[in-house]
Amino acid sequence: MGRRRRRLPSRAAMARLAVASALAILIAAAVEILRPHGSPSTPSRTAAPPFRSARVAFVADGDTVRTEEGEWIRYLGIDAPERGDPLADEATRRNEALVLDRPIRIREGVTPADGYGRTVAWIYRKDETEDPISVNERLIVEGLAWVSLHADNLEDTERLIRAQGEAIAARRGIWAEPPEAAPYYLSSRFRFHRPNCPSVREIPDPERHADRWEPLRQGKAPCRECRP
Ligand SMILES: [Zn+2]
Repeated sequence: MGRRRRRLPSRAAMARLAVASALAILIAAAVEILRPHGSPSTPSRTAAPPFRSARVAFVADGDTVRTEEGEWIRYLGIDAPERGDPLADEATRRNEALVLDRPIRIREGVTPADGYGRTVAWIYRKDETEDPISVNERLIVEGLAWVSLHADNLEDTERLIRAQGEAIAARRGIWAEPPEAAPYYLSSRFRFHRPNCPSVREIPDPERHADRWEPLRQGKAPCRECRP
């Protein structure tokens, strides 16, 4: 499992960071003092991982951010369009509007790091304690990302699939203009493809679908290569 990479800020940014960090800590402390804590009698079926607090200093795109402390966070369960793809800028701007320069809560996945040393997590805006919908889910609801699952982080992802169904039904964002249809689609456990995609050969026993909506309803993500 990769270690988190922490990049040291430049000397020029040190003073500004120190002030911002102190401010963030003060705000966090104030929020913690003022906010009533959850009832300890609330039963929890599984030991939910605790929330950590941070502040977002940089938004890379619609699914990746960096905190003031230099921790890279990859949003669990979702994939946003990459630079150059349709709606990539919109997804980045929306993510910025949601979290940039804001205090957030981080809930790490069961597997809390990916192969690039990034934290894999659910992100919540700290100023939204009344409506704690994750930013992950919000981007799905708004059609600015699609569900992308991995076997090591499946907890709570059913709600992302439901949210995506809502976005598809409303033809929001990336669902507004579906790509040209293929005669059928083939899928592995978490990805689906056009039948002529080279990746299909590596799937031992692919599932066949008449349309793209069936694998999407199952929470399978469109392949980045063949873009089904
Ligand atoms: Zn493919």
